[in-house]
Amino acid sequence: MTLPTLHNTDLLRTQWLIGGQWVPALTEDLFTVINPTTQATLCTLSSCGAHEANLAIDCASKALEDWKHTPARKRAELLYQWFELIHEHLDDLALLLHAEQGKPLEEAKGELLYGASFVRWYAAEAERNYGRTIPSPHSDKRFFTFQRPVGVCAAITPWNFPSAMITRKIAPALAAGCTVVLKPSEETPLSALALAYLTLEAGIPSGVFNVIGGQAEDIGLALTESPTVRKLSFTGSTRVGKRLMSQSAAHVKKLSLELGGNAAFLVFEDASLPQTITALQQAKFRSSGQSCVAANRIFIHESLYSSFPEAFAASLDSIQCGPLINQKALEKVQRLIGDAVEKGAQILLGGEVESGTLFPPTVLADCTPEMDIFHEEIFGPIAAMGSFSSEEEAVQLANGTPYGLAHYVMTQDMQRIWRLSEQLESGLLAFNTGLLSDPACPFGGVKCSGIGKEGGREGIEEYLETQYVCLGMD
Ligand code: ADP
Repeated sequence: MTLPTLHNTDLLRTQWLIGGQWVPALTEDLFTVINPTTQATLCTLSSCGAHEANLAIDCASKALEDWKHTPARKRAELLYQWFELIHEHLDDLALLLHAEQGKPLEEAKGELLYGASFVRWYAAEAERNYGRTIPSPHSDKRFFTFQRPVGVCAAITPWNFPSAMITRKIAPALAAGCTVVLKPSEETPLSALALAYLTLEAGIPSGVFNVIGGQAEDIGLALTESPTVRKLSFTGSTRVGKRLMSQSAAHVKKLSLELGGNAAFLVFEDASLPQTITALQQAKFRSSGQSCVAANRIFIHESLYSSFPEAFAASLDSIQCGPLINQKALEKVQRLIGDAVEKGAQILLGGEVESGTLFPPTVLADCTPEMDIFHEEIFGPIAAMGSFSSEEEAVQLANGTPYGLAHYVMTQDMQRIWRLSEQLESGLLAFNTGLLSDPACPFGGVKCSGIGKEGGREGIEEYLETQYVCLGMD
């Protein structure tokens, strides 16, 4: 086992957190966490199943009574304390994240700072869950609303952002007065457990935040079948999201689903080329392309198409990518490139695995909608490019997918920005930048990319119910 050397070894947790206790699962099953950079085993954890999920739900349910009545200002102070501790332990948390996920250390730190910014944002929002009075048209009635916490929530998160995907859910849930059972990805449980450890250090009471992992399907069933769990927030594949959505129907759970994307990146003839190259590098290669908002289909106006793909390939010398998460991810990338090349795509850069699951930045030109690469989430550092000849065609191409998470557009034309804002079907739209996420803003998709938002005011409303109160007067 080759675990990273931490300043504070307490951050390395290899047991689950249920009701404030660090416990192993009772199943005989074990699973290993692999370092994708070295392929070495980092550690072995026991696999939780339905039993542990139900224990965690009970603990979250018991903790809910006090937590939802804890004054909002007190909850805010505890969340600020958690934020401070994430900053204090940034180097150790980055080492853990780098070890289990593979992204370069600096990128891991970037993710942690971004993730922590959600904790700070929702610490402040905790105190702003206002109800409202509604002017009554009747002299004998008064109307008003309360914002009440939803209750016990379940969260299921993926491996591509092992820290930020957690804080985006847990911080608003706790700020709203909910308690949570989290199941992180089995590929990357260590960041989740370290974050959970810091909630206890921050003084957040036992049982408010519980973490279990192992047998994903069994845990998913237990969480969705429980009538105690009132909400599920899931980030992951559309396939699993649909399944969890149907499982959640039995008890009509509130749902937030952040699912797959198939982002178009449109480069118009009036785009600034230096700005386009920087934006595309950001939108394509962050987390080695393993991001749901990664630019998946790059469409270049025909007037730039003879020069842009080569110019972009030449700009990638200094791009540092970590490995893909596992062999399955590597095989997918190889299959998509194989299919594209067979159907006429040209490899301008990269295209072959370097070692292990390390795949270099790759540029593919002459891609078309006939190729699988334009229909599936690549989840790798492959810039797949094709061309378009009119704004109308660009809009059709971008919208020609069942997904609707993010699109990117490079143009200097304000009229076009306005037109495309009205025409492109996506929850997120970025003009002239490749980085669009911020804790102050609502992140989430439309169509098969999901339901609900994370970030901004909308992000906490996902964990609140509006209760309308009608008061009869004498
Ligand atoms: P990815 O392909 O990115 O791993 P998944 O949707 O498979 O996306 O995984 C996202 C999260 O969903 C992970 O935590 C995974 O363990 C979990 N998961 C996968 N299948 C199920 C399931 N049937 N029920 C509940 N959670 C699941």
